Formats: sequence, C-alpha cells, structure tokens
Amino acid sequence: MSSIGLSELKIGNILNNGELCEVFKCSPQGGMRRALKTNSLVLISNHVDAIYDDRWAEDVLHYTGMGQIGDQKLEGNQNKTLYESEKNGVDIHLFEVFEDKQYTYTGLMALADKPYQEIQPDIEGNPRLVYVFPIKRAFDSSYKPAKEQFEKPFIKKQKQARKLSDKELLAKAKQNPHQEPSSREVSSKQYIRSPWVVEHALRQANGVCQLCDSPAPFKTVDDKPFLEVHHIVWLANGGADSIDNAVALCPNCHRKMHALNIPSDVQKLKLKVKGIT
Ligand SMILES: [Zn+2]
Ligand SMILES: [Zn+2]
Repeated sequence: MSSIGLSELKIGNILNNGELCEVFKCSPQGGMRRALKTNSLVLISNHVDAIYDDRWAEDVLHYTGMGQIGDQKLEGNQNKTLYESEKNGVDIHLFEVFEDKQYTYTGLMALADKPYQEIQPDIEGNPRLVYVFPIKRAFDSSYKPAKEQFEKPFIKKQKQARKLSDKELLAKAKQNPHQEPSSREVSSKQYIRSPWVVEHALRQANGVCQLCDSPAPFKTVDDKPFLEVHHIVWLANGGADSIDNAVALCPNCHRKMHALNIPSDVQKLKLKVKGIT
C-alpha cells in the first residue's frame, strides 16, 4: 500500500512494517507498540512465528502480554497501558500476521474481560507467568480472515514440525497448554455447483473412479457408490460448471488432483469426458 493516514486505514488492509510505523508513528519493533503521537497502542498478534500463544475463542482474542523471559510484569511496559485501557483513553489497534511481514489490520479493540495470569513457556522454553488480555472488537465491524489466509500459519508450522526430531516433536506436542481447541470464524468462498451437472457426472462414472478406474471404495447410506464430483479446470481457476468439465472420482484420486493436479492426470480426465478413452 502507498502511504496512508490513520483515518484512511480500513479493516482488512495489509501493511508492511514500514507502512504500519508510518501510519501510527510507532516503533518498528515489538508486539505491543505505544504510539504517543497517535494516542494508540498497536498490538500485533503474530500467528506465524511468535513465541506467544495468542488464541481466539470465537470473537475474543486471548492476547499474551509483553516480556519474553521470566514472569511478565504489569509495571514499566505496555502491559500496563493495555490493562488500564478502559480509563486511559488510549486506542487499541490490532494487527494480525498470517504471513511473514504482512500486517493485516483487524480494527479497534477493547478489553473483553479482566486480564488474567497463566503459565506459558518463555523464549528459552522455561515455564513462567504471563498476563493474558481477553480483547474483542470495540465495534461490530467483524473481521473474518479469508480461509486461505487463516490456514497459512498452520501450513508453515507443519513444515517446521516435519524438520523436528521425534524427541523435539513429542516435547512440543506435549507442551501444548490448551487442549481445548481454539476457534474463530473465517470467511470462505463457496462455489454453488449445478446439482444436474453433479448427477450427470456420477451417472457417467457409473460407480467407477474416472481417474484410477477402480470401483468406489464404499457405498453411501442410500446404497449408492461413493464418488466425488471434481471439476477438471477448478472452479476457483475459472473452470466452467459444465458436463464437459466435471468428472466423478474416488476420494483418493480427488485428493490427489487437488494436491498435485498432474498434467497427465488432467489430460486423462479431459479425454474421459470427451468419451475418448
Ligand atoms: Zn480413483
Ligand atoms: Zn475437486
């Protein structure tokens, strides 16, 4: 984004760190940045590689305060600013990071409840007391990250997890302090498919996967072979919802098409719908 002012900042805008600092006149570092000139406290919830364990529970973000080593304190840092935000008149602005160096503005926030303390590992992995601030949007402007955006930190962490030794992995998996899964609403684009095209593709396949030519792996409750209808050129890539772009696949092959989309497989399916096998 080119240079914008605070009044022009909109929910969903994605800024880099330089732009963020310019808008708020704040320091380029830290997860809680006090900006005196704009009377703001900028909170950054980094889902990609923060040491902190911020988590959403529906519309409340449980935001871990500042202090990387040892017990967190309420004095001499921005934990106090946030703690007192109901009466100190400082505006709390939240940015979330779903991808490295991209700060998504998610709006003005307010304390949803009293801050509390809990044990979380510090940067050296030692358990210590942190302050957790339950915050929610100050107004009803609900920001829902797009599903793809929301999933990016998970995918990145999955890659990191693969590089760990069994021992390291077990330690991390056991350390997860919140066994209750956290949740949040995300937005996703849903394509509305023609039921007639779907049924047509299923009938053409006649119970046999059109990629691997194996029978459907099981039957549905109403005794129909279980196959899934796939669009050869994905709807998300502009493919048509038409009988010459729809095939019926077994779940394995369907996953394979979405994971790999190998050209020779695509070619095979294109020939299948043309009736030339
Ligand atoms: Zn198959
Ligand atoms: Zn598909």
